Amino acid sequence: MVSGEGKIRGDLIRKEAFNLGFDLIGIVPLRQLDEHKEHLHSWLDKKMNADMFFLSRDKDKRTDPRKLFPGANSVIVTGLNYFPPILQDGDLPLISKYAYGEDYHFVIKEKLRKLLDFIISLDPSATGKICVDSSPVLEKAWAHEAGLGWIGKNSLLINRERGSFIFLGEIFLNIDLESYTQVQPDYCGNCSLCIETCPTGAINDNRTIDAGKCISWLTIERKSEIPDEFRGKLKNRIFGCDICQDICPWNNGITPHKTDQFRISDDVRKMSLEEWKNLTSEKFEKLFRRSPLKRAGYKKITDNIKFVTD
Ligand code: SF4
Ligand code: SF4
Repeated sequence: MVSGEGKIRGDLIRKEAFNLGFDLIGIVPLRQLDEHKEHLHSWLDKKMNADMFFLSRDKDKRTDPRKLFPGANSVIVTGLNYFPPILQDGDLPLISKYAYGEDYHFVIKEKLRKLLDFIISLDPSATGKICVDSSPVLEKAWAHEAGLGWIGKNSLLINRERGSFIFLGEIFLNIDLESYTQVQPDYCGNCSLCIETCPTGAINDNRTIDAGKCISWLTIERKSEIPDEFRGKLKNRIFGCDICQDICPWNNGITPHKTDQFRISDDVRKMSLEEWKNLTSEKFEKLFRRSPLKRAGYKKITDNIKFVTD
């Protein structure tokens, strides 16, 4: 084992994480996140989770990760930039930037698996559980704790140098690790641009989102038709929404990502409005086979196109 005081050195893990392409990493001891309990429960009690009932099912596991990962002692939190080097034409049906390329779950899980293998090579007694936005984990709270940034008024994790177009991932480990964290203060200050700019008024004043009003939920998760009250408010958004990130001053001049899998293909970027309107299920399958758009499915996407273009 390569360690300091019997623990694997944090700088070795950081170095390997950067080699694997991660932009941010922090390491913290596991603990109960009791201070988030009230906030989470009140958000759920007010039904701000829309129909995402799975969020209330596992609420105790979210604040007590040992219920989810018995024996876990440390958490590694990683951040991977997804701000695109090339953007879609803003007048065409818009896909959220996180969905330009391949589904991030696969890309990040593969990197985290390699990071875990590296840790096991240093300490064969190590075991870990990888999470990417799917387990009941308070990802942003852990990212804040691990020094990756602060939770902005738009409810997203913001890093002072990297902005907020960041995918988070975690490894919950059974071993103790040398902690490596520098908690970032809240740099939102008096700004409220995201709250003022959100076209549907979905941002609450306590750094949470009313999911039922958020364009991301409406265009991705909502099973039934988008209600008429939102007509005109989505502009040309057919999958997700970046408005509260695009407006955030901390995203001004950020460096684009270097992850090839997150690039938008020319075939998608060059689609005309007519091609979007006439999208067939065969073409959808071909273009978005490995994309997050598959999660919404052909019918939802074509309904959304109709909703914003009719
Ligand atoms: S993603 Fe869009 S709709 Fe949702 S809170 Fe942000 S600006 Fe509002
Ligand atoms: S737009 Fe302003 S208030 Fe909103 S997250 Fe960014 S800095 Fe914070």
